[in-house]
Amino acid sequence: LTIPELLADCVSKRPEADAVVFASNGMRWSWGEFASRVDDLAGGLLEIGIAKGDRVGIWSPNRPEWVLTQFATARIGAILVNINPAYQVFELEFALRKTGCKALILVERFNSSDYVAMMREVAPELADAEPGSLQAGDLPALQSVIVCSDEPHPGCFTFADISARGAQTPTSKLDTIGATLEPDDAINIQFTSGTTGLPKGATLTHRNIVNNANFVTSAMALTEADLLCIPVPFYHCFGMVMGTLGCVTKGAVMVVPGEGFDPESTLRAVADEKCTSLYGVPTMFVAMLEHPEFDTFNLSHLRTGIMAGSPCPIEVMKKVQKDMNMSEVTIAYGMTETSPVSFQSSIDTPLNKRVSSVGRVQPHLEVRIVDEKGAVVPVGAEGELQTRGYSVMQGYWDDPEKTAEAIDAEGWMHTGDLARLDEDGYCNITGRVKDMIIRGGENISPREVEEFLYTHPGVSQVQVFGVPDAKFGEIVATWIMPKPGVVLTEEEVRGFYRGSIAHYKVPKLVRFKPELPMTVTGKPQKFLMRDAMIEELG
Ligand code: ATP
Ligand code: MG
Repeated sequence: LTIPELLADCVSKRPEADAVVFASNGMRWSWGEFASRVDDLAGGLLEIGIAKGDRVGIWSPNRPEWVLTQFATARIGAILVNINPAYQVFELEFALRKTGCKALILVERFNSSDYVAMMREVAPELADAEPGSLQAGDLPALQSVIVCSDEPHPGCFTFADISARGAQTPTSKLDTIGATLEPDDAINIQFTSGTTGLPKGATLTHRNIVNNANFVTSAMALTEADLLCIPVPFYHCFGMVMGTLGCVTKGAVMVVPGEGFDPESTLRAVADEKCTSLYGVPTMFVAMLEHPEFDTFNLSHLRTGIMAGSPCPIEVMKKVQKDMNMSEVTIAYGMTETSPVSFQSSIDTPLNKRVSSVGRVQPHLEVRIVDEKGAVVPVGAEGELQTRGYSVMQGYWDDPEKTAEAIDAEGWMHTGDLARLDEDGYCNITGRVKDMIIRGGENISPREVEEFLYTHPGVSQVQVFGVPDAKFGEIVATWIMPKPGVVLTEEEVRGFYRGSIAHYKVPKLVRFKPELPMTVTGKPQKFLMRDAMIEELG
């Protein structure tokens, strides 16, 4: 099925039932109302000249307009371009130019950033343009800028304008386009998180993301009876494929706690809306568990959910399972380039495997683990994880070279992640190839050193990485974020390690930080930590 067909199915089954709840402002849409707003926007986009295959960017945090844009672009076969809400002028221009967006939908402001002002910096021509006929020298493809606001802005449409125009569009016109959509049409360009450097734009199809959303939610046994709380960004595949689209594949309710992640509003949304499932990256779960009023939130309706996106410490998984009542919590492993999930535990996975591995391979995918020469390694050995099947992206948008580096001639996606498979097919992600520390010829997995420190009661978050060293090649460094009110010393941390792990793995450099550098998707950016250490050491 294509995305519009899935949504139509939800509407025909239960038009009056809740589809989307925005907990921060109390707004609720039934499936019928949601789909009709989607159609209004889709019609409006047609009216301003957006056709199948055209790129439409969305630059917004988790707002109602995001979800509408996701399904409206899919309705008319336009390619949605997710633009990171944390982007500033330089990155915005890069993304718009790279993908050749014909229209951009943006919010007025988010956090301290004025998006309209940044857009004007990128395209000064906007001030004098007629809405819909922008001609910017630097962005030749861009015609329309659509602002989510009641206030008019020079040269721009408002979101309400576009939806009002589209309300006149006959449904039959949308259905005619719908009939031309093919499962292998590109539908979305998603940028990777930028954990290891500059983000890359992965081009994904209906087939890619619809199947993945379906399998991911099946592993949690999600149904119409479920309410899924989505605090992860829509900008990222975790929010928009596993989250919103996942709910549409099952008819489950999407509960959006707020524009950006905040532990308190997420806990409140779960409690108030009686959510049965919850998503998050590990750092989000840690922040919720450590919230001073954690005990006052009623989480008794929670059953399942997903922790994913970066290594999921066993200690944190155990707490989520016990203290948050998520007895059926699962872990997923994936990457933007594979739509995203390739491994996931399911609610049937034995608990010890569920907290300690990323589960088994998803249906209809092949995986293999290879050594540096590309030979498949024996069961239990570590190597690079490669995946093949329906979920592998079409490629990086307008970047055949990078695509060829990532996907080989036989269709294997080289993930750049290190993993082991046990004899029952459970997978452990042991780190990123790029993050592996080689100290004096010994390979050290940062993951292992991190896991150990998570068992220390005073530690909230820990990241371990290599720093260049004249004598050893690389030495082990760690940045630690202590729990609120806890004071740790370097000596104490090293003492904790000593005798428990091999001496060469004990971090030589230990630093305490009130927070760690993160992507907007909540992933620790080791390359920034490494750069900061290099600078500190001179
Ligand atoms: P970039 O590719 O731009 O450097 P990124 O790889 O973090 O950023 P994403 O596509 O968002 O961008 O993330 C995919 C990566 O996240 C995987 O390659 C893997 O390293 C990591 N990851 C995802 N899920 C897990 C998990 N459950 N355990 C360990 N690592 C995970
Ligand atoms: Mg990546």
